[in-house]
Amino acid sequence: MTVSLRFKAPGVKATSLLTVAWLLLQSLVPLAPVLAQSKAGDSLSYGQLLEKVDQGLVQKVDLDQARGLALVRLTSDKSDQPPHQVVLFAGDRNSDLIRRLRSNRVDVEIRDSTSHSALVWFATNALLGLILVLGLLMLLRRSAAGAGSAMNFGRSKARFQMEAKTGVVFDDVAGIEEAKEELQEVVAFLKNPEKFTAIGARIPRGVLLIGQPGTGKTLLAKAIAGEAGVPFFSISGSEFVEMFVGVGASRVRDLFRKAKESAPCIVFIDEIDAVGRQRGAGIGGGNDEREQTLNQLLTEMDGFEGNSGVIVIAATNRVDVLDAALLRPGRFDRQVVVDLPTYKGRLSILEVHARNKKIAPEVSLEAIARRTPGFSGAALANLLNESAILTARRRKEAVTMEEVEDAIDRITIGLSLTPLLDSSRKRMTAYHEIGHALLATLLKHADELNKVTIIPRSGGVEGFTQFLPQEDMIDSGLYTRNWILDRITVALGGLAAEAEVFGEDETSTGATNDIQQVTNLARQMVTLYGMSELGPMALESIDNQVFLGRNLMPRNEVSEDMAHRIDLKVREIALSCLSQARLVLRQNRPLMDHLVDLLIERETMEGEDFRQIVKQYVDIPEKTAPAPVSLPSL
Ligand code: ADP
Ligand code: ZN
Repeated sequence: MTVSLRFKAPGVKATSLLTVAWLLLQSLVPLAPVLAQSKAGDSLSYGQLLEKVDQGLVQKVDLDQARGLALVRLTSDKSDQPPHQVVLFAGDRNSDLIRRLRSNRVDVEIRDSTSHSALVWFATNALLGLILVLGLLMLLRRSAAGAGSAMNFGRSKARFQMEAKTGVVFDDVAGIEEAKEELQEVVAFLKNPEKFTAIGARIPRGVLLIGQPGTGKTLLAKAIAGEAGVPFFSISGSEFVEMFVGVGASRVRDLFRKAKESAPCIVFIDEIDAVGRQRGAGIGGGNDEREQTLNQLLTEMDGFEGNSGVIVIAATNRVDVLDAALLRPGRFDRQVVVDLPTYKGRLSILEVHARNKKIAPEVSLEAIARRTPGFSGAALANLLNESAILTARRRKEAVTMEEVEDAIDRITIGLSLTPLLDSSRKRMTAYHEIGHALLATLLKHADELNKVTIIPRSGGVEGFTQFLPQEDMIDSGLYTRNWILDRITVALGGLAAEAEVFGEDETSTGATNDIQQVTNLARQMVTLYGMSELGPMALESIDNQVFLGRNLMPRNEVSEDMAHRIDLKVREIALSCLSQARLVLRQNRPLMDHLVDLLIERETMEGEDFRQIVKQYVDIPEKTAPAPVSLPSL
C-alpha cells in the first residue's frame, strides 16, 4: 500500500560537469598547438643537416631534446631569418649528430630539461585528460546510484557465495514433507552417483522450487547440500540484473566454472524470475542484459556433459513468467511446489524453532499453530523470535502465551499504540468492534471470537476483532455457503452497529476494509462457487496457482447483461446480510451497550470472557463443526 516514489532529475550534476569539461576542451585545444609551435623557417631533413654540418655550413644548433627538434642556423642565413627546424630521431643517432657538430666546431646549445612550452603543453594535456576522466566517473557514479549497483561491475567475481558445509539437515526443515520427499533422490544421487549412472538413469540437472517467500526454499536447498555433504553455491537472480551488458553473463560463467571445479555440488539461484522472464517481453520491454544472462545460464546448463555432478536448484514464486526454455527437459525439468504449511506443518515448524528457546511448559504449540493460518515457515520462525525478544524485555524467565499473542498481533496488525482517552471516537470504535464480536458469537456458522480490542495500532487501526479460524476449512480451502454468509454478516457487523446506534448519517469510514472483504466474498459466491440464483456457472476464471495469491481475472466472455446481473446479485447478498446484522444487534441492544461499556473500561476482551457475559443475556448457539464438504472425485 505504500508506494514509494523516488523522483530524481537524472544526472543533472554529471551533465553540467561534462559541459564544463567540454567548454574547457574547446578553449584549450586550439591553445595546445600554439604553445607547441615556435617560429621556424624552412625545415631541413636530418640527412640534409648532417650534410650541411660536414660542409661547414652550419653556424649554430639549438637541440631541443624534449620536443625532438633541432633549430638550425646556417651561415648563409640572414640574422632576422627564423632558424630551420629539423626533426630528430629518438635514441642513439642524435649522439652521432652531436659528435659531428663537435668535431666541426658548430655552436651547440642543448636544452635537455623540459622546455617551458613543452611543460605547458604537457600540463594542458594532463589537465584535459583528468577533467574528462573525472566527468566520466561522475556520470557513471550518477547512473549507478540510480540503478543500484552498476559500479560493482569491477568485482563481479565476489557476487556469489560458497559454503563448503551448510550445516543444515533435513531435520531442520519441517512442514513441507512432500517437497522433502521429492528431493531425497537428489541427495541420494549426490552421495552415490555411480548407482544411478550404472543403470543409465539421467539425473535432473535442474530443480525448480516454486513457492511464496519464506516457505523454506533456500533452507531446503541448503539441506540437500548439507545431507549430501557437498558445497553450496548461491546467487540471487536480482544480482544478475546489472546495468552493464555482459556482466551478468560473465558472472554466470564464473559461477559455473567454480562449481564444476568443486563438483559434486549444489548451485542455488534464488529469485530466478529476475533473469528468467520470458525473453523479449515483460516489464521494460526487451532487456539485453537479462537476456544475455539467461542465455548464458541456458548454455551452462546444456554444457554439462553427462552427469557432471553439478545440480542447479532455483527458486521462484512466479513460475508463470518464466521463459519456456528454462523448463525444457535437461534444464529445470523437475518442479517442486513448496506450499504454505498447513496446521500440521506449522506445528512441526514451531517444534523445530522452539528447540533452542526457553518456552514455558504451559505454552501449547498446537494453540499457536491454530492461531497462525497463512503464516510461512519464516513468519513462524520470526514469531517465536519476537516472542523471545518480548520475554527478555519483560524480564521473564521463559516465553509465555502472553508474549506469543502479543507477537502475533504485532506481526499481523501492527505495533500497539497508547489507548485513546474516553471520547466519542473511542465509543464509536467500541460499538463497531462489538458489532463484529457479538455477531461472531451469536451466528451459528461464524468462526469463534478470539479477542476484541480497541487499543489502536500503527497504520491507522483503531481496534480489531480476531477470530479463531476453523482449521480444517482454512487448510482444505473448502468453505460452506453458510460459513461464507455468516462471515459476510460478521464483517458487516461494524457498520451495522454504527448505523443502529448513531444513525445511518453518522456511520464512519471505519468499515472500508470490511466492505472490501464483503464484496470479494459475495462476488466469489456468485461467479465462482455457483452459490446464487445465477446458477453453477464459472463466470470468472480463477488463477488456480495459490501461491500467486489467487488472482481473479474478469472473464471477457461474460455478456454485458450477465455482468449487470452479477453486480445486482452481489449487491443483494451484501444488503441482505447487512439487514440481518442490524436485526440481530437491534434485538440485543442492551447486551451490546453493556459490552461496549466493558470494552471501553477494559480495552481488550478475550473470547472466553466475552462469551461468559453474553451467556448472561442470551443462549449462544453451539458452533457446529462445519459440515464436511468434500467433493466426490470426478
Ligand atoms: P525462502 O527461500 O522460501 O524465501 P527461506 O528458506 O529463506 O525461505 O526461509 C527463511 C527462514 O525461515 C529459514 O532460514 C528458517 O529459519 C525459516 N523457515 C522457513 N521455512 C521453514 C521450514 N519449512 N522449516 C523450518 N524453518 C523454516
Ligand atoms: Zn470493522
